[in-house]
Amino acid sequence: MREVLIRGAEVLVTMDGARRELRGADLLIRGGEIAAVGQGLVTTGEVVSAAGCVVTPGLINTHHHLYQTLTRAVPGGQDALLFGWLKTLYPIWAQMGPEEIFTSAQIGLAELALSGCTLSSDHLYLYPNGARLDDTIAAAAELGLRFHPTRGAMSIGESAGGLPPDSLVEREEAILTDCIRVIDAHHDPRPGSMLRVGVAPCSPFSVSRELMRDAAVLARDKGVMLHTHLAENDEDIAYSLHQFGCRPGQYAEDLGWTGADVWHAHCVKLSGSEIDLFARSKTGVAHCPCSNCRLGSGIAPIRAMRDAGVNVALGVDGSASNDAGNLIAEARQAMLLQRVQNGADAMSVREALEIATLGGAQVLGRPELGSLEPGKRADLAIWDVSGLEAAGAWDPVAALLLSGPTRVKHLFVEGRQIVRDDQITTLDLPRVVERANHLARALAR
Ligand SMILES: [Zn+2]
Repeated sequence: MREVLIRGAEVLVTMDGARRELRGADLLIRGGEIAAVGQGLVTTGEVVSAAGCVVTPGLINTHHHLYQTLTRAVPGGQDALLFGWLKTLYPIWAQMGPEEIFTSAQIGLAELALSGCTLSSDHLYLYPNGARLDDTIAAAAELGLRFHPTRGAMSIGESAGGLPPDSLVEREEAILTDCIRVIDAHHDPRPGSMLRVGVAPCSPFSVSRELMRDAAVLARDKGVMLHTHLAENDEDIAYSLHQFGCRPGQYAEDLGWTGADVWHAHCVKLSGSEIDLFARSKTGVAHCPCSNCRLGSGIAPIRAMRDAGVNVALGVDGSASNDAGNLIAEARQAMLLQRVQNGADAMSVREALEIATLGGAQVLGRPELGSLEPGKRADLAIWDVSGLEAAGAWDPVAALLLSGPTRVKHLFVEGRQIVRDDQITTLDLPRVVERANHLARALAR
């Protein structure tokens, strides 16, 4: 079987049970698996030098809307709160089609890969002009990232008192039918899977109570995960109290939306009892600090969640509300934001890195990912700490979040090298960027 030896890392961050950091260590990849970690390993296969580098598990992104990459920095949405921001962007998104969704995903995933991400989930909840979940799946397959696309949906349009225009909502029966189609066509439940599909109505304010419940039943029947937005900001809480007569946590619990097979994005406004509910039920959280800052939503109580035992992971969120898709930068922001709220000792670099790696693997139900140990899948990020950004750093691991670099030198997914010497190996990136700019300009007209 094909072997690659990662040789001589300055530090190899294992994220194993003892959180060992190994100096001068090697890592042997055989096929798609980590065969060995330690000093003095040998191979007859390829050797990649990790001298002057920190090696970490691949970072895991648990919340994104890849389709939004073509609508970064849109003027009318730059300074709006969540609901106003959505209303600005819906009419633009309504003009998209398969080509825009595909190209947008290529850009978003390439950006993630260069920032150390080896597995991304995605939440696609609008399907204008013939677009399909399959368009994002094709982009991820081409790039070679591990992918957890979720079949999102909106069913309550403006005429029914909802937020999105009627042209962007679907009939609930058609939504469920297409969920079944994409799961049957693409979902791979096996360990080491490169693609798992989830079911993900957009949010409690854009679908009916019935669809939330039916989606949970369908997901459990198919053995796939559930995902949505929850408790994102004060407007969101007010909507829940007014429309449903309860807080979002209660609404989620009533409809079957808690459990180890569920993860919710944001959860900025979770109360103490909702945090306890999530811990007890093993419900996961995708923390999106940059998006929460950008939309002024608030600071998610991540310290309290972690202390209570909630599984927390990171998400960059859509590129129309971040507007970057840099996952290592998101880990830095998560660390900084907890310090704003709780003091300088509230979150260490190493805890933020743990959330970005192991945390993601836990939330997405991937025990074979998230750490560098024999028998785990070979998803790893190699960071050059010999350059400008980390120059003068005393602790190269801490430098990853405190100073830089913010881009990987090499990236491996399932043992395959996706980034080599700062370049994506699987895409003609300048051509994709040119195409994306062309499509974005057309949307702006
Ligand atoms: Zn989102």
